[in-house]
Formats: sequence, structure tokens, C-alpha cells
Amino acid sequence: MTGGELEKFVTDMGQPRFRATQISQWLQRGAPNAAAMKNLPETLRHDLDAVAQTLPVQIVKKLQSADGETTKFLLQLQDGEQIECVLMRTTYGNSVCVSSQAGCAMGCKFCASTLLGLKRNLSVNEILAQVLIAQWELRSAHATKCNSRPNGDANNGDVSHIVIMGTGEPLQNTENVIGFIERANADLGIGWRRITLSTCGVVPGIRDLINWGRPINLAISLHAPTDELRSQIMPINNRYKLNEVLAAADDFAALHNRQLMIEYILLGRRDENGDTVLYNSSPEHAEQLSKLLAGKNCMVNLIPWNAVDERDFASISGNAVHRFQDTLIKNGIHTRIRRERGTDIGSACGQLRLNSARKKD
Ligand code: SAH
Repeated sequence: MTGGELEKFVTDMGQPRFRATQISQWLQRGAPNAAAMKNLPETLRHDLDAVAQTLPVQIVKKLQSADGETTKFLLQLQDGEQIECVLMRTTYGNSVCVSSQAGCAMGCKFCASTLLGLKRNLSVNEILAQVLIAQWELRSAHATKCNSRPNGDANNGDVSHIVIMGTGEPLQNTENVIGFIERANADLGIGWRRITLSTCGVVPGIRDLINWGRPINLAISLHAPTDELRSQIMPINNRYKLNEVLAAADDFAALHNRQLMIEYILLGRRDENGDTVLYNSSPEHAEQLSKLLAGKNCMVNLIPWNAVDERDFASISGNAVHRFQDTLIKNGIHTRIRRERGTDIGSACGQLRLNSARKKD
């Protein structure tokens, strides 16, 4: 509901208008139901829970990494589809990784999210709900801490960053994703520059983002330095070639004076002897990538591949990762290695949803 709709809903129940403001504050904190809305009268909480739901999703499973930094949620939508989102507590704030679709149609060869195909696009509210679930998790953890420690701990904070890097291709659901970002900014106060949208390179969608005009961060899933190699692992490359994707991404970055984020998974493959061969991750690939990105204002995020059983790739050694990075650095390309988070809880890229769907079959 919009603010106006909520007011009408509340006054139709015979309640004073200010209750709508109270409820709206609870909704922004991600309250899972009216029972949690402590400053409402008991009878109203009861009545509300009988007629309304706060979120269009339910938590099926919640997994906590051993280090306590990562929480992963498996969520069920009202039509039974399942999605995932991940809360990551970092030194710079609390970041939520949200899904934009149930499943994915992009068919990238290394990815678990696309194995069962695309089920459907998520609505604005279904994407927003993922942030609210994380928000409530942070708030509840904070409340528990404050109760157990008399002096409290004021630093637990709220969700500060959003990455649209969960299941799905956001630029195949551009309208709802833009609607979601607008709401996250307006209703939850999350700054444009703290929101990152990752795409496999849907060029018309990048153009839509340019026309929309908000200065969010754009990340491009590149994963290969040549069209030949990229087309083998990312079918989208048959539609939009590397130079087109990078040209659109450059235009976006230039418009907002932003650094472009490039994602690059380091993939290996096993040969017939069981030895790992560097698939897109040899020093020569690093040289090719350096040439492709020369002179651009970009940051290359090197991502260790999260193993997916059905996928015919292998992780590469730490040494090979560093050799790849050293080559980029020598060529003047900004780069960092993305820390793996939550691998102990299947937090990587669609694994939880996939395993859950399998169990149902
Ligand atoms: N469809 C969008 C966003 C979702 S995927 C995109 O392609 O960017 C978010 C990132 O995770 C992408 O860079 C994707 O290529 C990467 N990814 C997918 N499967 C992975 C895996 N098994 N290990 C590591 N990264 C993976």
C-alpha cells in the first residue's frame, strides 16, 4: 500500500489516522506481522493480523555462517515460488544481496540460478521484501544484544547497501527493478550510490538505466576477455558483443562520473588426467583483459568460482588467482579479489533455492 492507501485502510477499521504512521514505521523496519508492532493496542494488532500481511514472502529457511557475518534466507512467495537473499555484515555497513527474478533465463554455463530456467519476474514489493527481511534481522539481533548488555551496542545499524546480484537478470525485469530502487531510496533512505545493479550485459537495459538517470553503481559480469570465449559461457554474448556492452557501460559511468565495476569469475576446468586447466584465468587472459579495459575508469572484481555440482568447471588455485591479479596490476588495471562469504551455508549464487527445488521433485 502507498501511504494514502494505508491511511484509508486504517481509518476504515475505525482507527485514528496516526496509527497509519506507526504501522508504516514498523513496515519500514521489516516487522513480520502486526503482533510485532509493540506500540499498537493489543486488539488492533490482533485485528490487523487477521486481515493483513506485512510482507508478500515467508521465510522458509534462515542460515547463519559460522563467523556470524552472513545470513542467508530462503523465501517463499505467495504462489509457492522460492527465492533467496543474503545479508552481509561488512566493515563498511550492512549489505543485502537481492534476487530480481525467480530463476533466470540467461543460461550462463557456470551458474546455478539458471539451471531450472526462468519462472517469473519479481514484483517491486517482492524485491523490497527481501531488504525488509534483512532489516528486521538486523533490528532483532540488535535488540537481543541490547537486552543482554545493559549499555547496548548502537553500531548494529540498518541495511546501508543493496546489491542486485541475487538470482535473475535485473535488466530482464527493468521496470520493477527501477521501481524497487526508487522505493528503497524514498522509503528506506538508501542512497543511490549505495545501490549496485549487476548485469550480464543486456545493452537495451543499460540504455534504459541511462535514460532513467539515477546515479547508482553498475556492475558488468564480464567473465571473459574475448567474444569467442565469452560466447561459450554466456549465451547473452551472442546478442550483445563485448564492445557494445562496454560502450553502453562506459556511457553510464561517464554520465554519473562513476567507476564501472567489472566482475570476473576465475574459472578452471579439469582435463582428462584430473589436472586443472585455466579456462579464462591464465596470464594470457589477464593480458587480453588488460587491453580490453585499458584507459577505462573501472575496478575489476575477481571472483573465486563457487562450485556448482552440475557445472563442468573447477576452482583455480590461490597462486593462479594472484598471478592473474598481478598481471592486471602490472598493466595499471584496478583490481581486487572478492572475499568469499557464506560458502559454508550454500550462500553462493542460487544454491539454496536449487537444492530446495530438488528436494520437492
Ligand atoms: N544476472 C546478473 C546478476 C546475478 S549474478 C549478472 O549476471 O550480473 C551475480 C554475479 O554472480 C554475476 O557476476 C554472476 O556471473 C556471478 N556468479 C554466478 N554464478 C556464480 C558462481 N557459481 N560462482 C561465482 N560467481 C557466480
